[in-house]
Amino acid sequence: MSRETLKVRTARLKKIIVPLERTYPTAHCELDHHTPLELLIATILSAQCTDKRVNIVTRDLFKRYRSAANYAEAPLAELEQATKTTGFFRNKARNIKAACQAIVEKHGGKVPQTMEELIQLGGVGRKTANVVLGNAFGVNVGVVVDTHVARLAYRLGLTKQKTPEKIERELMALVPQPQWTLFSHWLIWHGRRRCLARKPDCVNCEIQKLCPRIGMKK
Ligand code: SF4
Repeated sequence: MSRETLKVRTARLKKIIVPLERTYPTAHCELDHHTPLELLIATILSAQCTDKRVNIVTRDLFKRYRSAANYAEAPLAELEQATKTTGFFRNKARNIKAACQAIVEKHGGKVPQTMEELIQLGGVGRKTANVVLGNAFGVNVGVVVDTHVARLAYRLGLTKQKTPEKIERELMALVPQPQWTLFSHWLIWHGRRRCLARKPDCVNCEIQKLCPRIGMKK
């Protein structure tokens, strides 16, 4: 696998995409949201937390805070209390408040639609920005690299990189741009349902024949 050229790897990836698309035809972002702002908040809360837990928390949160100004004006302690069960809540509450203050002050209360503007908001990194741009605005600016995407990209021999930024760059070179958002959904869905971190179900895996299973016991 180490001698696989970029051309061969790109061709193999094309073949990997076919069964993934067939297996997960409805793959989508599993964070519940109705607006770009709700998705931004949910994504900030999803760090080190399951989507399921975030969805439980946001059910009430989104009823209570309906605009960026609502979050910006809320006392920090109140936001901390409301997001407590997602973990790392002090940081998350601070980031939500800072991001929403910037949205109110610099963007007229609307979530900006460019990577450059999004990553200027407090506590919003490239991954969060990619989630918002790809899923709320339908813009493919990058590939979301979370723990599932990083694990699967490595096992599938698509990258040897270890940091999200470097993994993303390599995936962007391999995957056709119109599929960047969907591709991360396919890997995330496959990572949650088949290629689990501790117990990957390789025997029943839909892409087994195309997977070198890098880093795993043969
Ligand atoms: S063959 Fe195994 S390691 Fe490869 S993608 Fe499938 S479950 Fe994951």
